[in-house]
Amino acid sequence: MKLTVIGKYGPYAKSGSHAASCYLVSQGETNLVMDMGPGSMSRLTEKIDIEKISALFISHLHYDHTSDLLAFRYRLEELNLKIKIITQTHDTPWCALLLDHPLFEVIPVKAGDEITVGDFRLKFYDMNHTVPCLAVRIEGEKTLVYTGDTVYNDNIITAAQGADLLLADTSKPAGFTGPHMNVEIAKELSAKLGIKILSTHLSPGYDPQADLADCPSVEVAQEGKEYEI
Ligand SMILES: [Zn+2]
Repeated sequence: MKLTVIGKYGPYAKSGSHAASCYLVSQGETNLVMDMGPGSMSRLTEKIDIEKISALFISHLHYDHTSDLLAFRYRLEELNLKIKIITQTHDTPWCALLLDHPLFEVIPVKAGDEITVGDFRLKFYDMNHTVPCLAVRIEGEKTLVYTGDTVYNDNIITAAQGADLLLADTSKPAGFTGPHMNVEIAKELSAKLGIKILSTHLSPGYDPQADLADCPSVEVAQEGKEYEI
């Protein structure tokens, strides 16, 4: 089971060849894409043919996790290829603009649901963000948990219990109190869970590497890197 970081930034990508939130989880023929922030489509197609994507999971509907879905639809139209989009749905104009498309097969999910995508078993957990957000626990040969965007909440502990890797929105500086977690919380989570954490959702102007240097169990996500879980 392998995780490839396509884009790690938020709320927008650092200048250059970078992208906001997008991750690829693969095992055998199963390829699950998680979020599609701005800049991600180009970088994603460096790693995988669109035809080989099993499904997309969208953690929440903020622009920095979804905007390249719109360009992605053009490519699906060229290929006449239908794809599954796993996400919470809402009765809002943005949700309709983003997801109402004949080549999107929307699979609405909520906390507590469990579904299968190829070789993966997916479970969903409510997070605490400025809009509804789901974490996903992906069980295959190994177990990966992705928090989406959130502040600290006990559901993270429940979701990540016994997992092999936690991909977590924990890249804000110590003392940050907005709708994301900071590097100090990353260290606390790692100690509490006893598992490795990949810290992501970096602000373009802040590199958490130095602040995490004293905690080897928390690693800063690297774009383009493939992590064997
Ligand atoms: Zn967000």
